[in-house]
Amino acid sequence: MTQALIDDLSASLGNAKVDTSEAALDARRHDYWVASHVRDFAGTPGPSAACVVRPANVADVQAVLRITNARQTPVIPFGLGSGVVGGVVAASDAILLDMSAMNAVRAIDPVNLLASFDAGKNGLEAEQAVAAQGLTIGHWPQSIAVSSVGGWIATRASGQFSTAHGNIEDIVHSIEAVLPNGDLVTLGKGPRAASGPDLRHLMLGSEGTLGVITGVTLSLRRAPPMRAVSAFEAPDMRTGFDFQREVIQSGWRPPVARQYDERESRRLDARATACLILFVHEGPVAVVEAEVAAVAELARQSGIATAPSDIVDHWLSHRNTVPSWDMFLSRGIVLDTVEVAADWTKIAAVYDDATASLQSVEGCLAGSAHSSHLYRSGLNLYFTFAVQVGDASRMEAVYTDCWRRIMEATNAHGGSLSHHHGIGRVRRAYLERELGPTGVALLRRIKAALDPNGIMNPGVLIPDA
Ligand SMILES: Cc1cc2nc3c(=O)[nH]c(=O)nc-3n(C[C@H](O)[C@H](O)[C@H](O)COP(=O)(O)OP(=O)(O)OC[C@H]3O[C@@H](n4cnc5c(N)ncnc54)[C@H](O)[C@@H]3O)c2cc1C
Repeated sequence: MTQALIDDLSASLGNAKVDTSEAALDARRHDYWVASHVRDFAGTPGPSAACVVRPANVADVQAVLRITNARQTPVIPFGLGSGVVGGVVAASDAILLDMSAMNAVRAIDPVNLLASFDAGKNGLEAEQAVAAQGLTIGHWPQSIAVSSVGGWIATRASGQFSTAHGNIEDIVHSIEAVLPNGDLVTLGKGPRAASGPDLRHLMLGSEGTLGVITGVTLSLRRAPPMRAVSAFEAPDMRTGFDFQREVIQSGWRPPVARQYDERESRRLDARATACLILFVHEGPVAVVEAEVAAVAELARQSGIATAPSDIVDHWLSHRNTVPSWDMFLSRGIVLDTVEVAADWTKIAAVYDDATASLQSVEGCLAGSAHSSHLYRSGLNLYFTFAVQVGDASRMEAVYTDCWRRIMEATNAHGGSLSHHHGIGRVRRAYLERELGPTGVALLRRIKAALDPNGIMNPGVLIPDA
């Protein structure tokens, strides 16, 4: 069965695009999900896929899906593997569809401010291509150098400059995708449309379960003429939340707005004594100058002190440093970051309950949070937990328990359970609390309509019936 499938794929795409080498299979067993790394570390690694297929163009993707759909073979799309929620976990009966060879810049249009890329294009390379023309995508996930533009769509990603520029759903213009039966569709046209439901949202956050994204057109901005930074220190998280709410609800839109609790503030800068708040301001000179002055005045009125602005410069130059899970695991420490969001009236309770619960875990080294995406109606929280476990065989249970604590605290106060990493496997059991039983049933019906043979990334996003 597997050999017949590999023969079919090789005959259709050519041998060079179908890889069964041990090295290729091993390198594509999973994404950046901590649980997969824990399993490797504990000596219980998961299986490899039957083969790694690397399409070079849209026709290749269509051919792969026609073959796998006919054979009812699972397909796991792989962008650049930076996902952190278990969206990619190989199975021995599945093919791993590695999109990284589809990495062309298709077009940059400086008049309409649009840029089109193959879905496997590295995010930083995409940004550099438009930056060469004085433009920016304005989407800066911390993982920009290790994630693909197609992955951004598939996970509903969010960048560090989102408060002014929006999240990926605000930046995307159109999406080209191959449906599970091999049909090609382009979703989105023009700067806006009222042509029925916005079908781009079928792919935004689909996590490989509804089709394969093959091309992405993003809406660009001109590079801002001016950047300034400002920093403040609030005595506690609640005062900081109130200040951030004043800033955004007064109409100011600093692209970067971050607030760290006391533990994280001290980790960021040893001079900190309470909760640091960092802003980056960008845009036309007059707007930036007015925003810097207005935010400083709002801080003064809120009784919030200024902090040295070199803290923001330091954050800007170190913000994409990527930690290695394995370094912590080898010291017996299990850790992760978990992002949620809630309205202003709920966010402080989510913060208090989740951090208190994490800190009560035996061996807890860190149970802290910062916010990094600001909205008129609320903001996100990005929790970090680290627990000294020692025994590798207990790590996954401790990990799952820490996640449960954050999910339950967020759910108890009516927050949303994922701000930008997605559901994957780690949050699948909680999706019903987010969407309700009717919402999950609707998602299952959409999945059944698009993918009746259930070939697309089984085990991800949608809870078992
Ligand atoms: C250090 C670090 C920092 C991070 N910072 C951020 C951040 O600031 N903001 C943020 O939003 N995320 C962040 N992430 C998470 C991750 O980078 C994003 O989820 C990213 O969008 C994943 O892109 P990828 O190409 O690596 O996708 P992958 O990890 O390869 O895949 C992710 C999911 O999307 C599916 N998929 C991928 N490509 C396609 C495709 N072409 N068609 C259909 N399905 C596809 C996969 O099947 C999987 O379910 C971070 C991750 C790390 C490790």
